Amino acid sequence: MMAAHSQPITLIDRLPKVRGRYTENAPLNKITWFRVGGPAEVMFRPQDARDLQVFLSGRPSDVPITVIGVGSNILVRDGGVPGVVVRLGRGFANIDIKEEDIFAGAAALDLNVSLAARNAGISGLEFLSGIPGTIGGALRMNAGCYGSEMKDVTVSAQALDRVGNIHELELKDLEFSYRHSGVPEDWIFTGARLRGKSSTPKEVDRRMIEIRSEREFTQPIRTPTGGSTFANPSDANSPDSHASAAKAWELIDRAGCRGLRRGGAMVSEKHCNFLINTGAATAADLEGLGEEIRRRVFEETGVTLEWEIRRLGVADPSLKGVEP
Ligand SMILES: Cc1cc2nc3c(=O)[nH]c(=O)nc-3n(C[C@H](O)[C@H](O)[C@H](O)COP(=O)(O)OP(=O)(O)OC[C@H]3O[C@@H](n4cnc5c(N)ncnc54)[C@H](O)[C@@H]3O)c2cc1C
Repeated sequence: MMAAHSQPITLIDRLPKVRGRYTENAPLNKITWFRVGGPAEVMFRPQDARDLQVFLSGRPSDVPITVIGVGSNILVRDGGVPGVVVRLGRGFANIDIKEEDIFAGAAALDLNVSLAARNAGISGLEFLSGIPGTIGGALRMNAGCYGSEMKDVTVSAQALDRVGNIHELELKDLEFSYRHSGVPEDWIFTGARLRGKSSTPKEVDRRMIEIRSEREFTQPIRTPTGGSTFANPSDANSPDSHASAAKAWELIDRAGCRGLRRGGAMVSEKHCNFLINTGAATAADLEGLGEEIRRRVFEETGVTLEWEIRRLGVADPSLKGVEP
């Protein structure tokens, strides 16, 4: 499209005036944990919830919107993400404590929330110290580990819908299930009220140290990765009772995929439900390797693994990934 003065009209020209920042062609490979992926056509960093509302209510309805946290559970494809990628920043990173309740903005890091809870002598949120994401990402994924998940600590959350209306959601409205929230995919969480139990900083710290050392021991946390690639299968997804008891990593191991490579992507030797970028992987390598694992696991066990990592954006047609 051309304007009257014959300059091409860019996507930013079509977006509402906001107080936050728009960036064209914003690299996402510097943000995502996998360190791969093409750029966002436009990235929007709203200053606060009011600014985000102005954006959502005023943006053209044909422009796709994608929200990301710190990119620890996403695989951005090499062709990038069309439309606007919303990244919440400082204006959403508040952490306030009142008795056993913690009010956290959606951009607050899970680790910072668990540290604030520890300092206030509140237990129950230690598991968040083991999850390298934000509260927004944790709500969307019902993130959890070591026997606790968001469902156990969330009292309520706030979200904006696709046109900017504010929604106050009680726990039941969040429809949490295993690594999933039933809240519409195009709603953006802006914050949550979490609740723990009264304890002492020393006791909470003891549990956090346990979690840290267990993670160091079992996960490749010093290599670019996206955490667990596939969800653990539910009984319904499994044709036989033996397989139904198996975790995703066990099925992957049984199918002989530990250490499997495709281009620069590799199945972690340490935890075979983790894919790692050994240095020069493309998103196509990682996705192709994931699909190869699914194929081999199905052949070996009859179980269809489902991606837990969210794949975003479009492929780069010039990159096909390396055949195994
Ligand atoms: C080394 C490693 C270990 C991990 N261990 C665990 C673990 O033990 N348990 C676990 O559950 N996960 C784990 N993960 C996965 C990941 O950390 C979690 O899923 C986390 O909650 C993702 O948060 P994020 O901010 O990085 O979200 P992103 O990865 O940026 O986004 C994930 C999804 O959430 C959506 N989203 C993000 N912010 C918002 C928002 N404000 N509103 C609405 N939707 C939003 C995105 O659109 C996307 O669909 C691990 C990842 C890594 C890399």
